[in-house]
Amino acid sequence: MSIEPTPKAPELEAVLEGLAGRSTAINKLTCVQVPIGCGKALQDSDFAKSTGGDGVFRDELSKREYTISGFCQDCQDKIFAPDEDDFRLTTEEIVGRLS
Ligand SMILES: [Zn+2]
Repeated sequence: MSIEPTPKAPELEAVLEGLAGRSTAINKLTCVQVPIGCGKALQDSDFAKSTGGDGVFRDELSKREYTISGFCQDCQDKIFAPDEDDFRLTTEEIVGRLS
């Protein structure tokens, strides 16, 4: 007889790994890894500059969100879609829905 850990849904596993990699990503100034984020290095964005941001993030709120979730501006825009309230989820809410 053997006892094994309960398998977790692949989505939840991915979220947990993503969260685990969040601090590393922020320390390296990258987005959190795929499939949670895009994993790309934070880059200057003409769009962010044109909207008054520092060139990487649109505003202080977006910059602060990065320190919480590790999502770059592009990923924040995809995840926190402004026109669809259902998609305005925090990382905690995403984890909650998957667990
Ligand atoms: Zn990203």
